[in-house]
Amino acid sequence: MSAALEYVLDAPPALASGIALAPGIEWLRLPVPGALRHINLWLLDDDDGCTLVDTGMNVPESRAAWEGPLVAVLRGRPIRRIVCTHHHPDHAGLAAWLAERHDAPVLMSAPEVALMRHLFDTRDDAEVLAERLAHYARHGMAATDANRWLLAGDGYLRVMSGLPTDVRIVRPGEVLQAGGYRWDVLQLAGHTDGQLLLHAADPGYLIAGDQLLPRISSNIGIYPERRDTDPLDSFLAGFERLAALGPDTLVMPSHGEVFRGLGVRLTQLRLHHDQRLERLEALLDDGPATATDLAQRLYRGAVDPLNQTLALGETLAHLRYLEVRGRVGIDAPSAGPHRYVVRRDG
Ligand SMILES: [Zn+2]
Repeated sequence: MSAALEYVLDAPPALASGIALAPGIEWLRLPVPGALRHINLWLLDDDDGCTLVDTGMNVPESRAAWEGPLVAVLRGRPIRRIVCTHHHPDHAGLAAWLAERHDAPVLMSAPEVALMRHLFDTRDDAEVLAERLAHYARHGMAATDANRWLLAGDGYLRVMSGLPTDVRIVRPGEVLQAGGYRWDVLQLAGHTDGQLLLHAADPGYLIAGDQLLPRISSNIGIYPERRDTDPLDSFLAGFERLAALGPDTLVMPSHGEVFRGLGVRLTQLRLHHDQRLERLEALLDDGPATATDLAQRLYRGAVDPLNQTLALGETLAHLRYLEVRGRVGIDAPSAGPHRYVVRRDG
């Protein structure tokens, strides 16, 4: 495909700083450990204070940024509310900490609040933790000393500052006024159960969270705490809603640069997932395999526990998509992990 994305600014903000993106909108960037390296936050300025969209992860570098260089970015303006696009720790990790400091409510979608609360509420629930480990064991990933904490859910809690006390549910179809714009609230699933996106039809801005990223495909995975049983189908179903926003939409993603070319990006992502589905079927032609075995062959770079878990989740989402459509099946033995098989005429 020759069509390319158009990156509208020459340079993104440096880590722990902010730049003006449009009247009333500042683009902030905070460090994130690991391959992502950064997250973009959006500060929408109104006369009585700011709306902050996403918070950064609860890691010392991000807290230091909020206590250091970002103080100058705020220029004394209060944060009067915090919107978290979803419950992931790079987005909501500092929500509790910032909410307390600014005495601000945290706005989230109902499915994301449910996921966040569930992960906190079950932190000491031996039965739930055992079920999570059983999910991974069923798919061929044994708990080891290196990954047990992550599989059981503690990987999330370690980089969250807490559960915000004043949480307000925002529903799709609601309107938020912020930064001098009228933002329609969209809620799309796939990356997580109900990510919140904000769309200002005039002049055509989209705060996209992790739903639409310019350079990497967002993780679409099956995880034990999630409710969505066919997240890839949910993700692709959301493309219609996004495409309807118009080709000139300025997309403000959580990772990477602000861009135009929404339709081009949707086409690229659909192709990416189609190719992944084809590759999985081709791998299964070699014989039955567990999801962990397939993930290792699909994502050779996933060597640390976090990336191996994400690779397994993503592989399971693609397998589920094929399974629902009768293209693969599960050979469920009485003992040992599930093995996937091709069903050519299913
Ligand atoms: Zn995310």
